[in-house]
Amino acid sequence: MLRAVFPGSFDPPTLGHLNIIERAGSLFEELIVVVAENRNKRALFSADERTAMMRELARPWSNVSVSRCDYLIVEFMQKTGCRILIRGVRGVDDFSYEFEVAMINKALRPPIETLFMPTDPQYFVLRSSSIKELASFQADVSGMVPPLVAKALSARYSGGP
Ligand code: ADP
Repeated sequence: MLRAVFPGSFDPPTLGHLNIIERAGSLFEELIVVVAENRNKRALFSADERTAMMRELARPWSNVSVSRCDYLIVEFMQKTGCRILIRGVRGVDDFSYEFEVAMINKALRPPIETLFMPTDPQYFVLRSSSIKELASFQADVSGMVPPLVAKALSARYSGGP
């Protein structure tokens, strides 16, 4: 079975992430979206919250599942017997970073193949960090994230749960 993983922080999920999920999901029989709990990155939403949001968002695709991982993605892939790792790239800056990470993952586990998927041009400028900054100033981010994420951002920045 042709399976792939799409790992990320997804803090929070954006329309750019969903576009990659939709496109990668149409290429593979199964796509596992892996929500990474990165201890070195301070996240706005907890890993539980990000996973719950992603599960809700991935519901329309029957071949897409969502998992959580608080250890190396290459270990997750070894455990699940998956060799293909998808990463989205917005431009040259993303590419140089992603290329380096791909080299590291290859060194850690040679059977892993990283595939880069260029962003759809309409999502080129979408970045979780900028969206959080905009939302913190109560700017309208409804064109950048799905409605449930827009709601969660607005609740978070208005002192909500
Ligand atoms: P990480 O912290 O692992 O970089 P992110 O949540 O920022 O996780 O991103 C997860 C993946 O989605 C990365 O491969 C990133 O390059 C990709 N990505 C983020 N935003 C976009 C976008 N607008 N279009 C395409 N890919 C994107």
